[in-house]
Amino acid sequence: MPRIEIALSKIRHNAQLLSEHYGPKGISLMGVSKATLGNPDIAKAMIEGGVSFIADSRIENIQRMKSAGITTQFVLLRTALSQAEMVVRNVDISLNTELETIKQLSHYAKMHDTLHQIIIMVELGDLREGVLPCDLSQFIKAVLDLPHIKIIGIGCNLACYGGIRPDNKNMSNLSKLADSIEKEFQINLEIVSGGNSANYEWSESGKKLGRINNLRLGELILLGCETINRKAVPGLNLSAFNLIAEVIESKEKPSLPWGEVCQNAFGKVIIFQDRGIRRRVVIALGRQDVLVSGLIPDKDLEILGSSSDHIILDSNNYDYQIGSEVKFKLDYGGLLSAMTSPFIAKQMVDNYL
Ligand SMILES: *Cc1c(COP(=O)(O)O)cnc(C)c1O
Repeated sequence: MPRIEIALSKIRHNAQLLSEHYGPKGISLMGVSKATLGNPDIAKAMIEGGVSFIADSRIENIQRMKSAGITTQFVLLRTALSQAEMVVRNVDISLNTELETIKQLSHYAKMHDTLHQIIIMVELGDLREGVLPCDLSQFIKAVLDLPHIKIIGIGCNLACYGGIRPDNKNMSNLSKLADSIEKEFQINLEIVSGGNSANYEWSESGKKLGRINNLRLGELILLGCETINRKAVPGLNLSAFNLIAEVIESKEKPSLPWGEVCQNAFGKVIIFQDRGIRRRVVIALGRQDVLVSGLIPDKDLEILGSSSDHIILDSNNYDYQIGSEVKFKLDYGGLLSAMTSPFIAKQMVDNYL
């Protein structure tokens, strides 16, 4: 069975280094667990590293961590109307952008005799979630009428859908909005959550951080890279995750297929390049297991293509034995798919737990 090897000490190290880096700047961290399917051991490593919250987009992942005994403040990154009751019962804080949904949260919070905390997300140009800045004041006014909801902060999310870079302009806009909301409604916004792993570059730019006092970090903790240029961040470990698969065929073959060319299994006509006879390795891993474009092979291997259950690699004429293993690093999409795949075993490789 293919497996993903997870070095928890490296995840803890990254969380700790980032917590110690951002703490003195007045920025608290939410460790984002969604790319790991809410893996409780990974959440625990993040918490031991010093993150103050665990945030996930899926309530099922949060339930998984809670049943495994993880105790921290849980934040839901994506709130759906139909899940309002589950949200109130399972989550301390949720991110929200729709009044109808918040009304439902208030309804269930009343029913379960609790106060549900929310962070209101503001649209600052990336065009995923967010209340438009021009609507924010009215929106907050309406939410303040709901007795079982507490607004604990505002936030924004950039560089996800529209690919908009967090910069001095949009970050100081968020700060100004926090100031003006506090002034207008005489409330305290404890959390001003500036964004995700794409905010690293901005936070290092030497520009004023303003009111931003929280970041929600997934990829930066897990893979050690910021997400604007996918540059490694100094001191962070880049190899917490390795995907391992078995070689099931290793033969020298021509690099051009023969016979009449038609569509392949995925409806594509592939153009091949003639590189002469090459040693090719086939591994027991395919598109049903993982997002193949998210795999980063060791330097001597090159992915030539894949089908549902096989990946074909050029081995640079190195003779892999049948039954031997090849190793990949993963990008975010690769990590997300591997952690979600029922066919890939999750194996913790350091025994620090
Ligand atoms: C996924 C997500 C994050 C974390 O993003 P990374 O790029 O992994 O740091 C933060 N905030 C929200 C709202 C998200 O959906």
